[in-house]
Amino acid sequence: MNQMPASGRAWEEVYQDLLRYGADDLEARGGDAWAYVYDSGRVDVDRAAREAYTMYLDPNGLDPTVFPSLRWFENDILAVAAAHLGGDDRVVGSFTSGGTESVLLAVLAARNQARRDRGVEHPEMVLPTTAHAAFHKAAALFGVKKVVVGVDPVTFRADVDRMAEAITPNTALLVGSAVSYAHGVIDPIEELGRLARSRDLLLHVDGCIGAFTLPYFRRLGAQTAPFDFNVDGVTSISMDLHKYAYCPKGASVVLYRDESLRRRQMFACAEWTGYTMVNMTLQSSKSGGPLAAAWAVLNLIGDDGYLDIARRTLDAVRTIVEAIDQSDDFRLLGRPDSSLIAFTSETVDVFHLVDEMKIRGWYVQPQLSFDNSPANVHLTVSGVSDRRVDRMLFDLNQSAQAAKRLPPPLDPDQRDWLAGLSPDRLTESVRDRLYALAGLDQGDAAPERFAPVSAMLDALSPAMRELVLEEYFSMIYTPR
Ligand SMILES: *Cc1c(COP(=O)(O)O)cnc(C)c1O
Repeated sequence: MNQMPASGRAWEEVYQDLLRYGADDLEARGGDAWAYVYDSGRVDVDRAAREAYTMYLDPNGLDPTVFPSLRWFENDILAVAAAHLGGDDRVVGSFTSGGTESVLLAVLAARNQARRDRGVEHPEMVLPTTAHAAFHKAAALFGVKKVVVGVDPVTFRADVDRMAEAITPNTALLVGSAVSYAHGVIDPIEELGRLARSRDLLLHVDGCIGAFTLPYFRRLGAQTAPFDFNVDGVTSISMDLHKYAYCPKGASVVLYRDESLRRRQMFACAEWTGYTMVNMTLQSSKSGGPLAAAWAVLNLIGDDGYLDIARRTLDAVRTIVEAIDQSDDFRLLGRPDSSLIAFTSETVDVFHLVDEMKIRGWYVQPQLSFDNSPANVHLTVSGVSDRRVDRMLFDLNQSAQAAKRLPPPLDPDQRDWLAGLSPDRLTESVRDRLYALAGLDQGDAAPERFAPVSAMLDALSPAMRELVLEEYFSMIYTPR
């Protein structure tokens, strides 16, 4: 469709088009994908989620007095989340559209608190290099200065001493992860809590991807460091339900130790001619679908169900960790505390490895080098992974052998040239050469192999990576 149909089409036809558009998509169910999607491995869960989602598709979360069901769903979910994270009955929060929104709100609340309650004009936050990009987005959107601090080169956990040194009178917020996305490790939250207390600062724990799973892993006997509201000094926590609670996308929570901090994320406006707008979150009008689906999934799986899924997940994680430890080709980056694994290689180009895995039907995620973290492969393990783990590991070794036979995606001269580029010198001819190197000069058709793209990005500075990708996205998001 490149224009509005002059007259409406038959549903059967539209339906066929919907199917056709999805033909090239990554298969989101069944365990082929080791990133982006979270599969409980239970068809009944997927079915219930779809049913609940469509049941509450139409009610608008804008007004909790007109659609009280949505408020009830939300308060139920928040109570469950708070109890899961060791919160007492003073803990409050909000249901949000995702981890990014949860993180944005926590930073917004901290910024507003610093400004309004402490009179800090230019608030700052201290974050480890492993903190999620959403914090950088929050810094950019809300005018908070980010002070980024390196992490331990072996454990990839936050370095508390370095974070302490980065504190200034303008610091509004300290950030730790449980767990970090890239390496799947828990930052030293107890130490960070002590630091926050001693300097009278807020501490946000980003539990978007780890906080739901960690309490189950602990119950299964895994050694997991404390990270939740039981830790003195933790003032807010984000936890995604659309990751390891296996709810459909559009489901996360941000929780605050008490109501006073949540007040700083809220927004009310009576200064216009329409309805008085009161928003708990960044969104205003919003479908009740994600909320009702999340409520349904939590009920359907229940504590015993999540424990069962966590057991299978932990088994798969241990199998993979053991295989990597025993491999001559792969090396773990950090020791995973939860269900995310990062490994690198000195013998195989990791970007070729990703392509070879794709040829064998698997999606594994390449992670670019940054600071002291080398280029690596990221695996998101979930409830369905245990069924596929042996085959995946077999193919991983096959892929490694195949990748070894390929020439490096870039030669050293090209790497040097790329490393020397800076955003202010990006001319037309430089741009053309970049795209040709990466095989992206074919319009918006995805290249067969992504290794040249990843290797190119990896050789570029972070500022150049951002610029080149923004330009590329701007190109592929062009209506025609
Ligand atoms: C996924 C993730 C986020 C961002 O969540 P979205 O749901 O993708 O917006 C933030 N922090 C961590 C640690 C994450 O894993």
